[in-house]
Amino acid sequence: MIMKQSFFGGIACSGILIVAGCAQLQPQKASRQLGVAKSFPGWIGPKGAVEARKRPAPEVGKSAPATETKTGTAKEARQTGQTPAGNKPAPEGEIPPPKEEPKVIDPGPPPSDALVLFDGKDLSQWKSDSGGPAKWEIKDGVVTVNGTGSISTKQGFGDCQLHLEWATPAEVKGEGQGRGNSGVYLQGRYEVQVLDSYNNKTYYHGQAGSIYKQYAPLVNVSRKPGEWQSYDIVYHAPRFDENGKLLMPGTITVLQNGVLVQDNVEIKGGTAAAGAPKYHAHPLKQPLGLQDHHNPVRYRNIWIREL
Ligand code: MG
Repeated sequence: MIMKQSFFGGIACSGILIVAGCAQLQPQKASRQLGVAKSFPGWIGPKGAVEARKRPAPEVGKSAPATETKTGTAKEARQTGQTPAGNKPAPEGEIPPPKEEPKVIDPGPPPSDALVLFDGKDLSQWKSDSGGPAKWEIKDGVVTVNGTGSISTKQGFGDCQLHLEWATPAEVKGEGQGRGNSGVYLQGRYEVQVLDSYNNKTYYHGQAGSIYKQYAPLVNVSRKPGEWQSYDIVYHAPRFDENGKLLMPGTITVLQNGVLVQDNVEIKGGTAAAGAPKYHAHPLKQPLGLQDHHNPVRYRNIWIREL
């Protein structure tokens, strides 16, 4: 079942309806995997800005330059990526170290380069989807859904890494989609389902860790009602051209409680409750949403890193 789900996602391009679109997407997928920028106009954002992935691509086939240091050792060379002094240059084809050193950050948590969206004190980074300030209840460092409507960040985000912790009500009420339902809406459109999925059957692509109505989680790693759980999400937003045509679908990886439940799946469009998922073009930076599904789900420790 699980393998079928994953495999099906991987071969979705063979589906009749999206054959043409996927054929176009192959070069983008390849460039994403290789970290090669500027290889396709899909990197161009809605405002014309080039949204290239930032990891510098090594120049394959070029040898690492020999250092001029005369005291280098082989161990130092391994640590630095440099060819030790006195040795011959690295063999032809070896990948030299990137010129840019990875930025040093404090791991936290939260990591020092993260934007904290909720630290237990207030919802100043959020607004209510029905207008005005976010009105969810805050107590003891935790914010609780209270029926006042879904909330969204004031700031928009595109590609990102997101961490948040959530807990469904300890007192079990309802069943299926009516038990501990909330959701994380990437760009306000693509829902990673939040649900009490501990001994609570529902359709598989609607349980906790699912991309709602598109992908079931690889495993059900849900904790008991009332216990804190975590989502760590890596999200790459879809890209559209200036005419609103989809150039590259969004992709998402989700770890629930540290366990992989979505493995870089391609989002098929907005996660609607009914009907076929469809993409509707939108700007790259969009608010992150949390769903009020009329169940008192709790959240804490929410932070995001733009990628
Ligand atoms: Mg939901």
